[in-house]
Amino acid sequence: MVNYDHMIVRYGEITLKGKNRGQFVKQLQKNVKHAIKAFPAVKIDARYERMVLTLNGEDYHAVLEVVRKIFGVLSLTPALRTAPDLDSIKATALAYAVELGDQVKTFKVETKRADKNFPLDSMACSREVGAHLLINRQPLSVDVHNPDLRLLVEIKDDAAYISGKTEKAVGGLPIGSGGRAMLMLSGGIDSPVAGYMIMKRGVEIECVHFESPPYTSSRARQKVVDLAEILSHQNGKMVLHIVPFTEIQKQIHDCIPDRYSITVMRRIMIRIVEALRKRREAMAIVTGENLGQVASQTLESMYTINEVTNTPILRPLISMDKNDIIAIARELDTFDISIRPYEDCCTIFKPSSPKTKPRREKVHQFEDAFDFEPMIEKAVQETEKLIFSNRGKKEDALDSLF
Ligand code: ATP
Ligand code: MG
Repeated sequence: MVNYDHMIVRYGEITLKGKNRGQFVKQLQKNVKHAIKAFPAVKIDARYERMVLTLNGEDYHAVLEVVRKIFGVLSLTPALRTAPDLDSIKATALAYAVELGDQVKTFKVETKRADKNFPLDSMACSREVGAHLLINRQPLSVDVHNPDLRLLVEIKDDAAYISGKTEKAVGGLPIGSGGRAMLMLSGGIDSPVAGYMIMKRGVEIECVHFESPPYTSSRARQKVVDLAEILSHQNGKMVLHIVPFTEIQKQIHDCIPDRYSITVMRRIMIRIVEALRKRREAMAIVTGENLGQVASQTLESMYTINEVTNTPILRPLISMDKNDIIAIARELDTFDISIRPYEDCCTIFKPSSPKTKPRREKVHQFEDAFDFEPMIEKAVQETEKLIFSNRGKKEDALDSLF
């Protein structure tokens, strides 16, 4: 097996953002650094156009599997580095082809030349390297259409890189480049997927979960903790806010007509998340809502619930099919956690026939009968904060914000 000593990391979408690019590269470099902490020998050289990781003996397969999942990384090319002169390039390309062994019978050489002072043009360089392989590494023949090995020679002014194939990575934008949002995390299938999709757009996420003990069990909480932990792998850290919701749910049950209880409950949830969002200086709320059959997810419901906030509510799953959502959940490894049986705070007081078209005027009328504000404030005050971090240092900035 070729013992790659370098890895070229390409940025993809960052290319589109001309002005902010420097900042994005910096953020990505930071995120990569955190993600590969388990491989301390790796050196990162972040350039404007791409990043080069020097492996220094770390296992390239293991590093590859970590780096390809980092948002903002479009593709990865394991490479051998050599001096940018023709003899070194030829020798390294040959060593590379020899090491690949019998699996390679046909090949093609492509050259990309960033250093225009290199004495040969790209075509000539490819020809020279190709001829060198044909003579010294037999049996081997050229196939320009469907080669076993597409050998890439990249010539920069300070080094040349020989590589075989480019591996696709996750894409998206580096987390931390797009502000912060509060994810309403339920323990179901949808909300972790929604969080993942928004994180992929560069947004840092904090989770908010409503629980109603003793009606909801510690197993239900554990589910949410496990989901938040999985999401923390992308962030490098994660804050999970757990809101005590029992009192409010009981009060809703007592004073709001059944058909409107879900609508009122959702409005109060949003008001609480809104209060937490302000404290955490976040700029949006994320939910796993999906336009469809569920009573609280009709347009009429959203219109009535959304009335309580001006903050953008991001609903990345809004028009997706369930099967596609499940496919992402499986890939994320959240699916098996999400389907563990548990009681959700939304279902324990669930009315038999919730209103599918709740009206704002009606809700106002019902809500006027009881002042929920003190209960809301109390719930916010008593919200528990759990912090997950693989960054090793204490999250000191957090408490100062409260
Ligand atoms: P999910 O699969 O995410 O649970 P769902 O299809 O079950 O979604 P609902 O139960 O109507 O739909 O919830 C819609 C959204 O409201 C969820 O995706 C989540 O963002 C939020 N939500 C629901 N219950 C809770 C909860 N207990 N804590 C925090 N957020 C919640
Ligand atoms: Mg649910």
